Amino acid sequence: APDPTLRPDRQPEDKDRALRPQALAEFIGQEDARANLAVFIESARRRGEAMDHVLFHGPPGLGKTTLAQIVSRELGVNFRMTSGPVLAKAGDLAAILTNLEARDVLFIDEIHRLNPAVEEVLYPALEDFELDLVIGEGPAARTVRIELQPFTLVGATTRMGLLTTPLRDRFGIPVRLQFYTVAELHDIVTRGARLMGAPATEAGAHEIARRARGTPRIAGRLLRRVVDFAVVEGDGTVTEQIADRALTRLGVDGLGLDGADRRYLRLIAESYGGGPVGIETLSAALSESRDALEEVIEPFLLQQGLIQRTPRGRMLAEGAWRHLGLAVPKSQGG
Ligand code: ADP
Repeated sequence: APDPTLRPDRQPEDKDRALRPQALAEFIGQEDARANLAVFIESARRRGEAMDHVLFHGPPGLGKTTLAQIVSRELGVNFRMTSGPVLAKAGDLAAILTNLEARDVLFIDEIHRLNPAVEEVLYPALEDFELDLVIGEGPAARTVRIELQPFTLVGATTRMGLLTTPLRDRFGIPVRLQFYTVAELHDIVTRGARLMGAPATEAGAHEIARRARGTPRIAGRLLRRVVDFAVVEGDGTVTEQIADRALTRLGVDGLGLDGADRRYLRLIAESYGGGPVGIETLSAALSESRDALEEVIEPFLLQQGLIQRTPRGRMLAEGAWRHLGLAVPKSQGG
């Protein structure tokens, strides 16, 4: 059965934290983003100013939270963390903003889920470091303006398209995170194994890397499970054979797809002749929310070229038929 803890959107656990890189130089992959951030951080430090606001976007588990923490550490400022759904009222955000010290980093995860009333409060805060608060109600209500310390907002979202335009426009530094290459994940797994005190052979690390769905969070979780098998069924070393056996037992196939991914592909193949089929139909048939399909399952399948998005819905690509062990229909061949 598919292991739900393998889903990349599950919230970080304590164990994730232990493998988290602490400095930009320790962070593997995302070369362009890292090189640019290094310049912006250095410039802000030299000028003694708050760094411009940053928006990280991309699928879950690619390092948005990790990078936000690294930015604050490299700037030498405090890190405050909250999320869109947690900030229910304008006052919740106001309380956080008024407590920030100069140049602090405020991290808002899932920023596309901010309540519109809270978002309104954020605009002048981002633009002019000011807060307009309404005190009292009815005819006695009045607005007070509060000056804030200059700060850096770091937003993270899995759904850039759901951000309102005015909010998106207020980020001077938008950064799109990409899926990791197998070589990068290999380095991440090797480092993780070393930190866990379980040596990994080259081939063992490679096997986990190529089945980690392009995602460091998944690589870390697969590694922990493989280490369990290595300790119990081997001599504690992460070898290719142990990795393969453990991952197969966890339902992770040779491409890194798990049970939920295969269920999605098989549904389009077997019930809809390869598509096109609309996202709402898939969501109902799989009993998965549309958001989960769009944020978690589809990005990697699209990146791997296993599915295509067309105006009329999702379609299986040739590789998906082959991966499922099914004949490619004539209409798709060649
Ligand atoms: P996101 O916020 O994008 O969902 P996180 O920053 O929480 O992702 O990262 C998930 C986990 O993956 C982290 O706990 C960290 O251990 C690991 N991780 C992410 N990026 C890297 C990286 N570049 N190198 C090593 N580990 C990483």
